[in-house]
Amino acid sequence: MEQKVVLYIEDNFHNRRLVRKILQSQGYTLLEAEDGESGLAMIRQLKPPLILLDIGLPGMDGLELLAHIRADARLRHIPVIALTASAMRGDRERFLAAGCDDYISKPVQVTELLEKVAAHYPSNHRAKGEK
Ligand code: MN
Repeated sequence: MEQKVVLYIEDNFHNRRLVRKILQSQGYTLLEAEDGESGLAMIRQLKPPLILLDIGLPGMDGLELLAHIRADARLRHIPVIALTASAMRGDRERFLAAGCDDYISKPVQVTELLEKVAAHYPSNHRAKGEK
């Protein structure tokens, strides 16, 4: 059976626990990093198939981390879904312009998270609409 791995970079424990529960329930293995520096180190070492990226991180924030990913020829193909509580007009466009493949606003909704992870997961060939 194929192991589906997602890396989530998020400083908030409760968000990590929620996303972990949701994704594990669907057979994903969730790797976790608490800040941008350790997240980037894990990305370089593990080259995860899909990245969930909190924008508001201590130290190196999500957009800075995203710039590192997109500037690296070995990493730039990895799909990145941004997560943020920020819901200002234009945020979605700003994050997509920065190189994110998609955007989820917090609080995380189960259905939206699963749909977007499935849609962007590179080797996912399940039929559309399957839950
Ligand atoms: Mn945060």
